[in-house]
Parts: sequence; structure tokens; C-alpha cells
Amino acid sequence: MQITEKQLELVNSRIAALEKAGSFYGKKLQAAGISKLESPEDFKKLPFSEKSDLREAYPLGLMTAPEEEIVRIHSSSGTTGTPVIIPYTAKDVDDWAIMFARCYETAGITNMDRIQITPGYGLWTAGIGFQNGAEKLGAMVIPMGPGNTDKQLQMMQDMESTVICATSSYALLLAEEIQKRGIRDKIKLKKGVIGSERWSQKMRDRISTELGIELYDIYGLTEIYGPGIGINCPGGEGMHYWDDFLYLEIIDPVTGENVPDGEYGEIVITTLVKEGAPLIRYRTHDLSRIIPEKCSCGRCYPRIDTIMGRTDDMMKIKGVNVFPSQIEEILGSFKEISSEYQIRISHLEGKDTMRIYVETTGEYDFAEVAERIAAKVKSRIGFTPIVKVVEVGVLPRSEKKTARVIDERYD
Ligand code: ZN
Repeated sequence: MQITEKQLELVNSRIAALEKAGSFYGKKLQAAGISKLESPEDFKKLPFSEKSDLREAYPLGLMTAPEEEIVRIHSSSGTTGTPVIIPYTAKDVDDWAIMFARCYETAGITNMDRIQITPGYGLWTAGIGFQNGAEKLGAMVIPMGPGNTDKQLQMMQDMESTVICATSSYALLLAEEIQKRGIRDKIKLKKGVIGSERWSQKMRDRISTELGIELYDIYGLTEIYGPGIGINCPGGEGMHYWDDFLYLEIIDPVTGENVPDGEYGEIVITTLVKEGAPLIRYRTHDLSRIIPEKCSCGRCYPRIDTIMGRTDDMMKIKGVNVFPSQIEEILGSFKEISSEYQIRISHLEGKDTMRIYVETTGEYDFAEVAERIAAKVKSRIGFTPIVKVVEVGVLPRSEKKTARVIDERYD
């Protein structure tokens, strides 16, 4: 989707702000001799930014507004080395809440809803993003944070929560717990807003059926405000995103070239109005595509498809490129197994091996199910995995991101 004149103008104002502040990217742009962009072609010549740059700017190198205007920082999880610190001005915090409130509205949530928030509060952007958006909307917030399932379910009943915000794995855990305790008729939930994880259709169907709720996928990343920059609508496919705040491109992750609308590639985001830490052409490593058709819901905001995975999830096994979502799709076609699975990749005796763990009930012959799954992976992807079938409930469920793919080759 070509950048509009209005968006280009906003990018120019961000470039000017970055250079004036002499912040990390300001210096980089200056060194590259970039000042004012005259055309969409100029935009495509701008260098990409990467998470590794953001780490290099630690602790406050990204700060682009004067210190007295910075009201908050957030940080992305530092599971691999130095964390990334993103400073926010009061306007950034408010803009984020406006976008998030728009997400809730798109999902049909109103100021008469009671929103129970289970993602964590703290340095990361999850809980507080859900909260600020809900307050902007005027809904009643029940700010639970993660864990303590007993208390969650008690408050859900007593406060008559109508919306649950959670990761998909925690929503599943709550759904299973509600069923186990036989309290479904005491639960008033109507909608779920699910963020921060890739999840299968099967898992979605299971949560939605067991809780009897509509589910919405929220998109976002800490580097670009946080969750709330896009969400799916009730009618259409994919997610709407807010092009008055962000310009979004899809590129070929290998060549860096823009791909035509409709083709899959890596999402690259430019913030149009961010003050605290503007980002230009930030590579998200999330895989999706622009959906070129107008949405059946009538909203004019453009759409991206459901996130298909991460460019760095791409695994090379026995010389074949594999995305976890491909395996997931195959597993989803077997109704005998649950929505939980785990993929382990190891290097044994000079050979890459993929083991897939799935769950089923005693109704089925484990060995026979395993054999059929292995055969389907072989026919679709081109190599034979080792499939292990276990009883339902054996694979780990977690309140945080579930690590479904474990690569043991480089340990
Ligand atoms: Zn729509």
C-alpha cells in the first residue's frame, strides 16, 4: 500500500524531530544524509530499523522529546540480552489509549462493558495498555493482572465481567477451569480480547465454544506503543490497523523489497505521530500480508491478515524451510487431538529430527493416530517427523506465552 501524501508529511515531521533531538536514529539519518522526503520513492530508500539497533540505544538513546515531556518508559522483555527502552510523552500515552479504545469499539465493546484484564502490569506494555484503552472507552476495568485463577474466577462471577483480556493460553486455562468447576452458568462473559501470541484455529474454537464468547485478536508490539494498534472486526477477515497513526509495509524478509499487496512477507512499521521514540521502517519480523479488498464491515481502515508466524521461526529441517504454522494447520485437521502440541527439534547422530507431541483421549489408538499425523506431515512438507501421542492434560499449559517450539540443536 503506497504511502499517502498526508502520511509522507507526517514522516517528514518525525525525521525533523529525530534529527533535531540528535537521538540514536536522528544521528543515523543525519549520517545517511536524509532530511526531507519528496515522494513515495524517497520513502522506500529510507534505511530499516531493527530491534538490535534499539538495544544498542540502551538505556535512553531513543529519547526524542525533551526530558520534561517524557512521562513513562516501557521495556520489551529482555530474554535475549539487553532490553529495549521506549520513552513515551503524555501525547504518546493518550494516542495509544485512543487506538486501543478504537480496538474495543471495533470489537463491539462499549462503556457498559466490564473488562477483566489478566495480562501483566509493569515494565512491559500489556496490562496497562488494555487498561488505558478501556478507561478511554469509559468501560469498567477489573485490573487483575496474571495468575491466581481462584480469585480471577471469583471476581469474574461477582463483578459479572463481560469481557476477558488474556493471552490465548491463559484464556484456555480459564475455560478449562470453568468447565471443570461447573460454573459456566454463573459466568457473564460475552467477548474475549486475546493478545500477544500466535494461536491455532482449533484453540480459538475451543475457547470460544467452552466459554460461549466471541474472540478478537489484538495486534501490537512494545516498540510501537504496545498492543492495540490493530484488531479483527466482527464480520471480516484479518485485522484492521490504524493508518492515521502508523504506516505499514510488507517486505520480502530476505531481499528487503516491498511485495505487492496481498502477498505474504514481513510487517514493517513507521510511526507517524509518535514523539517519545519515533520509529522509521521498523522490522517487526512478524509475517502477514495486506488484505487488498475492502472489508465487508464497511470500515475504511486497511487490513492485515492474521499473523502467520515470525521470520525467525522459520526452521530449516533436513534442508526444508518449515513454519510452525504449517505444522499447526496440519494438526488442526485431526479432530482426534486436542489444541495443545509441542514441537521439539534436535540434532541426533548427524541428523535433524523433529518430534511432535500431541494429546488425545483414551478413545483412540495412540500409535495409529501418530502414524497418520506423521504421514500427513511427510506428504505436505516433505519429511517424516516422530510423533508422540500423550493423554489429554499432559502437555504444559501456562499463564504466560507457551513455548510450543523448542529447538534443542543449538543448546
Ligand atoms: Zn472489517
